[in-house]
Amino acid sequence: MEYRYMGKTGLQLSVLSFGSWVTFHKQIEDNTADELMGISYEQGINFFDNAEAYALGESEKMMGRVLKKKNWDRSSYTVSSKVFFGWRGKANKPNQTGLSRKHITEACHEALQRLQVEYLDLFFCHRPDKKVPIEEVVWTMNHLIQQGKVLYWGTSEWSGVEIMEAHRVAAQHHLIGPSVEQPQYNLFERDKLEKEYLPIFKTPGMGTTIWSPLASGLLSGKYSDGIPSGSRLGLSGFEWLKNQWMVEDRIKKTRKLGEYANSLGIPLATLSIAWCLKNPHVTTAILGATKKEQLLENLKALDVVSTLDASVMEKIDEIMQSKPVQPEF
Ligand code: NDP
Repeated sequence: MEYRYMGKTGLQLSVLSFGSWVTFHKQIEDNTADELMGISYEQGINFFDNAEAYALGESEKMMGRVLKKKNWDRSSYTVSSKVFFGWRGKANKPNQTGLSRKHITEACHEALQRLQVEYLDLFFCHRPDKKVPIEEVVWTMNHLIQQGKVLYWGTSEWSGVEIMEAHRVAAQHHLIGPSVEQPQYNLFERDKLEKEYLPIFKTPGMGTTIWSPLASGLLSGKYSDGIPSGSRLGLSGFEWLKNQWMVEDRIKKTRKLGEYANSLGIPLATLSIAWCLKNPHVTTAILGATKKEQLLENLKALDVVSTLDASVMEKIDEIMQSKPVQPEF
């Protein structure tokens, strides 16, 4: 396993990590979660990602049960939660979502209980909250850090401007600003990480924990001839995700990329994840998996990264046509 410093912080995360969105409670039960987290940990993964909203709190409870049973040295792994969407779904009332001091504080306490840990290593604002002053968010996160309940706080899918604003407020009041962003990053979605965020890497020195490296599984090639039963894009309640990814142009490009991966002798999922790790602004790519075989295939990305030379990267760009155009000065 390779470990990277999370931006300018002193925290080292494994370049591959493991997350629970969609899978925990909805697709897998405790025994599979235990197996997958066990393999992850044995392979050197030291970051497990979660959120209050995943399976309406059940995902954190499941991860908490596994962590308790495993009884790993608490200093040997990191665990996150995220606040914004609440955990009551349609029953959410005012103050049970968003980034007010009240909800951030209560969400932190509830995540600690569900995960059965004494502190969160990372606590993310799952989305920006345009209705709450940024000062309130920064002060609250700083307070949770002072109390020892959170070690590092971060943002997820915030704009570069919003992140810079949080840093401006933090600097003005001598508070701790966000040190990590969690954006989507994969061969289809590159703009934020490769273009918009360049200033937040350069100045505040943010790290990133990137999500959906396989575009929900599309970049494994499994959807190239329809939807295999039991797979994420066939789940009821996830039609919006299917509509986002099952698009002719995306499937065509994935097929072509699959042929290229074949010619290199690398499974497509392995190649797609390794491609993410080539970007030095990626601290860690969060893997999702419902099966042991998937996880093992994805972990092989570590062995493949060094074989992706300039000519391979160019060929991938040529197939995918998703490289952002940088502004000319
Ligand atoms: P991926 O894009 O890698 O998708 C993972 C899914 O793809 C798996 O659950 C599995 O689904 C399928 N899959 C994985 N590997 C393979 C393989 N080798 N072959 C075939 N199918 C495979 O990641 P996620 O979208 O799950 O994102 C990873 C993590 O990022 C999440 O768990 C979560 O922690 C975080 N996240 C954060 C978000 C945010 O807003 N901050 C948003 C989304 C995710 P199946 O078996 O059902 O087909």
